[in-house]
Amino acid sequence: MNIFESILVFIIGSCVGSFLNVCIYRLPLDMSIVFPFSFCPKCKKSLNWYDNLPLIGYIKLKAKCRFCKEPISFRYFLVELLTALLFLAAFIKSRYCFNYEFVWLIILYSVCIVSSFIDIDYRAIPAYLCVLGILLALLINIIRSVYLFNATLFMHMDFSQIPIVKSFVGIFIGLGFVYFFKLLGDFGLDIYLKLTKKDSIEGEKESLGLGDVDFIGMVGAFLGWQMSILTFFLAPIVSLIYGIYIIINKKSHLIAYLPFLSIAAVIASLWGDKIIRLLFKY
Ligand SMILES: [Zn+2]
Repeated sequence: MNIFESILVFIIGSCVGSFLNVCIYRLPLDMSIVFPFSFCPKCKKSLNWYDNLPLIGYIKLKAKCRFCKEPISFRYFLVELLTALLFLAAFIKSRYCFNYEFVWLIILYSVCIVSSFIDIDYRAIPAYLCVLGILLALLINIIRSVYLFNATLFMHMDFSQIPIVKSFVGIFIGLGFVYFFKLLGDFGLDIYLKLTKKDSIEGEKESLGLGDVDFIGMVGAFLGWQMSILTFFLAPIVSLIYGIYIIINKKSHLIAYLPFLSIAAVIASLWGDKIIRLLFKY
């Protein structure tokens, strides 16, 4: 255990979470994520720096704006806490080292959080989010490959294990695989709509959104093709619990799917190897 570094990672995570809150709020509105500095959405007054401290600011203000007393959504606190905990998980997974694994895990988790909450609000995400994630994953893996090449470690490596190769294979298999299922799903939905003579299910005509397909491609870029497919199959299992809840409460069965894909991706990144070994006994 490295207590000091772990606390540091938690604090950095909560600060990044504070920034992710800004992204979640501003990206769908096409606002700059840098300027202006944080402000109250109700009275538009800028926040004092000490009110803007992650986690602590929210508790100190007792979830109300200092100026207009408008309640501050619990979500701001939740996103900061979630980011901090996921950063800590990434640090533990990378065996308490600030290595490549740590870097790509925190980038992946950050994109997961931003896209999940935007999807909850808008039932869609900006297309560039996953593309950005894929580009960052490729960049990290190019740097890693160059490093391995310079250290002449390539000779002892399987071609498919070279980071940049693994990343590209992950993107293509992840995208292709999910797109195939999307086509099957759309086909099935089409037949269902024709048989029941409906136009759509609550306005929905697609089985999977393209945002979901992009997301799996991004998981492949970060974690390799095996984990992208595992994520695809884990997500419905995760969403089942929520599905039962909305069936009991008779809410709309249209749900944002990216939060479940994100949870599945986090599970795959942390325990994917163990799950695959357990399933295929090797
Ligand atoms: Zn206010």
